[in-house]
Amino acid sequence: MRPAPRRVLVVGASAAGLSVVEGLRRAGYEDALTLVGDEPHLPYDRPPLSKQLLSGAWHTEKLTLRPAEAYQDLGVELELGTPAASLDASAREVRLTDGTALGYDALVVATGVRARALPGIDGIEGVHLLRNLEDALALQRSLAARPHLAIVGGGFIGAEAAAVARELGCRVTMITDRPVPLSDAVGAEVGDMLTTVHRDHGVDIVTEAMVESVTSEKGRATGVRLVDGRIVDADIVVIGIGTRPNVEWLAGSGIPLGNGVECDETLSAGNGIWAAGDVASFPDPDTGERIRIEHRTNASEQGSAVARNILARAGEATPFRSVPYVWSDQYDLKIQIYGRSRGADRIHVVDGDIAERKFTALCARDGRVTAALGVNMVRPLRALRSVVADRTDWTTAMAAHSPAA
Ligand code: NAP
Repeated sequence: MRPAPRRVLVVGASAAGLSVVEGLRRAGYEDALTLVGDEPHLPYDRPPLSKQLLSGAWHTEKLTLRPAEAYQDLGVELELGTPAASLDASAREVRLTDGTALGYDALVVATGVRARALPGIDGIEGVHLLRNLEDALALQRSLAARPHLAIVGGGFIGAEAAAVARELGCRVTMITDRPVPLSDAVGAEVGDMLTTVHRDHGVDIVTEAMVESVTSEKGRATGVRLVDGRIVDADIVVIGIGTRPNVEWLAGSGIPLGNGVECDETLSAGNGIWAAGDVASFPDPDTGERIRIEHRTNASEQGSAVARNILARAGEATPFRSVPYVWSDQYDLKIQIYGRSRGADRIHVVDGDIAERKFTALCARDGRVTAALGVNMVRPLRALRSVVADRTDWTTAMAAHSPAA
């Protein structure tokens, strides 16, 4: 029989790490619990960074997930502002950058991802990534001067930053290598509508253009250079070109690494090690395909699942299964997705009209519903969640959700 852990160490003090800590205490775990974070802050919420915090609508304090007293009540030892440097899996010990060694019986890796950068940007003033609180505050300060922004990337970061910057009255040029911004996440039809919305709000969008580098003069950004040689001039550059999992500190530890920490379906990486949140790569229970989910709600759900599995008896850990959920606020649009719309091969509008910017739709891949997608229709969309959870056969879903039904 596997002995119950007496020391649980959680590395990564964001939503997933916090959820592990709370899940363990909720389930009655009473022994030692340590939460390590590389940032000096108490765990905070990231989705508002590119929305309410960037626009100035919210202050920093509103992002804090739990007040300081909550951590005392949870009886968790906090090690904040000191990144983990290495793992010795056979000695069951994590070493921090300040030399502190922390032993464990169960280790949870919840170190998330970092923003991908363009090469050669170090030391150039006026170049912004948008991943953590300092990034968002620095960009917010820059926006006060109402600069012209070159936004590199047409994903969620690029689109949300563009919307905030336009609402503040900045000039915005968005550059994306895709024919349609956001089409990866929402498909071409909805991506087209969102492109129109951004253009209607005055965003200049350059498509099918790969940015090669940031141009600069006397150490200050002056714009970006595209691979075809064109230059887009700007006062500041915002880079939103995806992420990289934070796994370098685990190199040489023997734990399976690939695009993240490679876990089994229970989120175990073996040898008393688990992973949760953006960094966890696990097999999709339906397709077997290895996936990582970079959504806020997934971080909490996986944190709770890992807490349960750490305390489960040997052989009784349960596979992680969820309906992923993501939302994005752009101008007066609330875009929401249940499930996985990436890679969908068809879409059907259930209610409303894409052109009216108010609709719900179902997406499918290989004949099964994989996602429900909606804009400004919060409740009707929620009603479609179960169709996604059941992976309903497309013909059955169409019979139930076509206008004639
Ligand atoms: P993303 O969703 O991966 O989008 C980045 C886009 O930039 C991709 O279309 C990518 O194209 C393109 N790109 C890459 N290199 C480029 C280049 N050199 N020039 C022009 N375009 C380039 O990443 P993100 O927007 O940076 O967001 C990072 C993470 O934060 C994601 O997981 C995202 O979901 C999350 N996030 C979520 C929300 C939300 O849920 N509302 C908000 C903000 C951020 P390729 O695919 O061809 O590389």
